Amino acid sequence: MTTLSLDNIIESMESRYEASRPRSAELEIVARRMIPGGTTRSILSFAPFPFRVERAFGSRLLDVDGHELVDFCGDYTAGLLGHNPEVVRDAIRGALERGWALGATHALEIDAAQLVCERFPSIKSVRFTNSGTEANLLAIGTAVHHTGRNTVVAFRGGFHGSVLDFDANAGRERFDLKVPHKFIVSDFNDIDGIRKAFASNSVGCVIVEPMQGAGGCVPATSDFLQVIRNLCDDAGAVLIFDEVMTSRLHPGGLQCQFGVVPDLTTLGKYLAGGLSFGAFGGRSELMAHFNNREGEQLRHSGTFNNNIFTMAAIIAVLRDYLTGDALLSNSDRGNRLREELQRELASHSLPMSVTGMGSMLHVHAADKRWVHWLFHFLLADGHYISPRGFVGLSFVVSDNDCAELVSSVREWASRAAEMWHTVQLGMSQ
Ligand code: PMP
Repeated sequence: MTTLSLDNIIESMESRYEASRPRSAELEIVARRMIPGGTTRSILSFAPFPFRVERAFGSRLLDVDGHELVDFCGDYTAGLLGHNPEVVRDAIRGALERGWALGATHALEIDAAQLVCERFPSIKSVRFTNSGTEANLLAIGTAVHHTGRNTVVAFRGGFHGSVLDFDANAGRERFDLKVPHKFIVSDFNDIDGIRKAFASNSVGCVIVEPMQGAGGCVPATSDFLQVIRNLCDDAGAVLIFDEVMTSRLHPGGLQCQFGVVPDLTTLGKYLAGGLSFGAFGGRSELMAHFNNREGEQLRHSGTFNNNIFTMAAIIAVLRDYLTGDALLSNSDRGNRLREELQRELASHSLPMSVTGMGSMLHVHAADKRWVHWLFHFLLADGHYISPRGFVGLSFVVSDNDCAELVSSVREWASRAAEMWHTVQLGMSQ
């Protein structure tokens, strides 16, 4: 009976949502005729259907049904600069005058590479891709080629792209989209587990996020990362840090904060100010496999790898905008927001937690319905966090926006607490 009540609340939230978004509802029906799932980016879909955005500016999204939302999702970290940032618009305007799909080399990719190498000390040389997924595929391929060993260690809950998804909650033993490397999946932050993986396998490389992002903003412990580093050194295996998300948490990436240096690093998301982007780079001897002058055999071509728009955007973002201080102060704001949200949930004794580091945080509950309810409650109040509870705080979301989010969560928590006590009462009877 108590379970029904929570379901009832969610049902009524969803009906309210549905009634306030007739245009999005219509578009969902049309979309599903041509696009299985209704959107070509699965993560964006939620029940009963996602709102469709008409336009976005700064920290705001305006949906086709006329609702203005404060964007706390921040395009899952890619939107660090907010919507339509001037710095990226200027870069694109400049590119418009010069042409953008050249089928030839140009100087912008050199400047972009230089800025990336300067920013991330472990990256001695770098190559660009169109997405974080590609960057990870290429980093793994490089490691397998270098070591001659195809065993790849990844971690439960890790996400490195749809073809490299190790989501613990997916409940899928069979996952046919995954690229066919020989994967050993070990538990995140489990030092004994990773030792065992190395003891019984000839490991070619390890791919790990210093903080799992899509897996729920779960930071690695520095001991765990250090043990992996040592195991890789002893075995001659390649250590890949996927910093597609986490590189925004510290000026030199989270690797600098942890003080553990990987052999290869992958990047993506925010660095091109919201344009399609990925990169992988690291130790010279690994990257030298792409050096075609020296008879090396790895070829990495991609039509859009050195696309002018993307290159111009990276240069503008890294050179003119994204200072180390700006990143650190946004991380401080994120830490404060996480602590405040955690305090609100804890003060109502809700069985929920908020994890994360800096500008990335995630609200958890063992029963996902609580997060779904919170998500819809916040949406009705004009705050868009991700449907699964992720917040990627961007520069343009103001302190006042954060304070309003905290106060909405406070209001929700007091309602949720009533429900939670009823549930508990029901269980103890
Ligand atoms: N690595 C991590 C840690 C990610 O979070 C993601 C995307 N969420 C990717 C890789 C894949 O990047 P992209 O979506 O650009 O392919």
